[in-house]
Amino acid sequence: MDDDEPFIYRLNDNGSGPSLLVKVCAERGWRIYQGHGGEEKWNLWWRSSAFPPTCYKTLDDWQFMNHIPKGGSICRKDSLSRLLRCMRRIYGPIYDFSPPCFHLPLEYAKLVSECSRLRRSEDGNDVVWIHKPVAQSQGRGIFLFRSICEMRCGSPAVVQRYIERPLLIAGYKFDLRLYVCVPGYRPLTAYMYAEGLARFGTDKYTLSDIHNPYRHLTNSSLNKTGPRFAECKDRIGSGCKWTLKQVRRALIGRWGAMEWLVWQRIRAIVTLTLLAQAAGTPPARNCFEFYGFDILLDDSLKPWLIEVNLSPALAADCEADITVKQPMLHELFDLLGLPMRHTGLSYLQGPSVPYITSYSSEDENGTPSVASRSASGKRGGRLHRRRRAMPVHCVTIQPPMSDKYTDAPDKIKDKQIDTLHSYKSSSDIASDVSDTQSGPRIASPPEAADETWRGGYSTAASRRRMMNACMWGNGVRWDRGSNRVGQWVRIHPHTLSNYEQLPLEDVRESVAHVSKFVRAAREVVRECGRDVRSRDSTRDAVFEAALRKKLSYGPNFEVWLPPF
Ligand code: ADP
Repeated sequence: MDDDEPFIYRLNDNGSGPSLLVKVCAERGWRIYQGHGGEEKWNLWWRSSAFPPTCYKTLDDWQFMNHIPKGGSICRKDSLSRLLRCMRRIYGPIYDFSPPCFHLPLEYAKLVSECSRLRRSEDGNDVVWIHKPVAQSQGRGIFLFRSICEMRCGSPAVVQRYIERPLLIAGYKFDLRLYVCVPGYRPLTAYMYAEGLARFGTDKYTLSDIHNPYRHLTNSSLNKTGPRFAECKDRIGSGCKWTLKQVRRALIGRWGAMEWLVWQRIRAIVTLTLLAQAAGTPPARNCFEFYGFDILLDDSLKPWLIEVNLSPALAADCEADITVKQPMLHELFDLLGLPMRHTGLSYLQGPSVPYITSYSSEDENGTPSVASRSASGKRGGRLHRRRRAMPVHCVTIQPPMSDKYTDAPDKIKDKQIDTLHSYKSSSDIASDVSDTQSGPRIASPPEAADETWRGGYSTAASRRRMMNACMWGNGVRWDRGSNRVGQWVRIHPHTLSNYEQLPLEDVRESVAHVSKFVRAAREVVRECGRDVRSRDSTRDAVFEAALRKKLSYGPNFEVWLPPF
């Protein structure tokens, strides 16, 4: 047994990856994977695109992957818009945070009729639309138009109502890049990083020139090639990025308490977007998603969701990139319980933890299937492996979890199963809108063997599967997760259930919680905004206490706010 081997990280399929990620992994004392083909001596596999489904089936307790099966549905422009439309139909205006959108070529006729209906905006000009190819990124193939005759048709695309009056800083348009980590969808657990980036256009914004991308698109990959990128621009400085801390300071003077509210609304938007695909993702353990959410503020400070990125850029182009992304990655790995130095490739008999089977191998018929563990697993890659004992770090390095739940795991399990009747099953919202009034329902699976997870908590097997997904092979329990690790703040669930309950798994209930949260945040601003004059962390603390009180949440709940 050797507990000193380095933790091994694998990048994409060819061993190359973003510079900052490589740097952070090296700083943690990890070693890059040198294996070839079938060899599986790695602990973390980080891939820019999704993994083939077979990779999840052979995942061991000591191995982690940076994607969740089906976790990327919100990352394609067309499927994001479909999911949000569907949620809008079910849950109403709380889902009004994405600009109206048409899918081409399917909805061309609808777009034409909408264009003629909305011919003129208040200022007498035709409204502006933005055309975005669905399978492109970094601003490629995007153009703005006013009249349908100006639209060039080509590959499948979405056409969105353009947010014509964005909030400007010194005349420049900007959007916000927020980092979100989802270590599980069933039930949804989500953390958002407090720091983030603002990305500016590098020419001043005006609607009288809609064809200049440097005025209208805020992608930094595009703007760094712009003629005024390096120039020292009014207030913005040179380059095109700020940290969220800088944005807060710029907004607070002008917007006062409304500035606090906008971050709460952004938190709600992120959660609601994740909930839109939660029902369509199977339980999976040792996998996480790391998303980049793009949010645009309009001139009334309303946040709009523009896009969700599956593999947000991790390059270090400027000072702001390094300030934000480097600690963010370190703290991401801390959050996930991935060690600073030692390996996952040596084995030790871990504590007897129930539910340690992969979701793919769990007994579908409700027979308990706690994996029996042997003290001496063998090293090396085998194509068909049985479950192994826990690696050393999983036993010795505990992630920063709350320590108040000290019951033996078996005892906890019994309590959980005893109280299951109080929980509803998850609804398969995206697949059937018409079902909403009659309550949750189990979707009829096209492929029974793969789709049994859709049943929520309806069977003992699915209950075990859900709990399984919450309990990672390294000992991290997401149903007992911390409120915050470094600057990663848990945004869902708002509070942790007590140990007698399964975590919240019902989408309907989660949406209701978010809606209540937004209402309460608005009330806090209305009631305390006038009394609290200070514009600093004292005010944030007063608002946080007032929000907790309003929602009757304990210290388990934390407000997400960028640093001040
Ligand atoms: P990409 O995947 O190519 O980056 P996005 O959807 O993120 O495509 O759009 C690129 C940029 O265009 C955004 O960063 C934003 O500045 C601008 N943009 C996109 N959609 C809208 C919209 N509906 N209204 C205003 N600006 C938009």
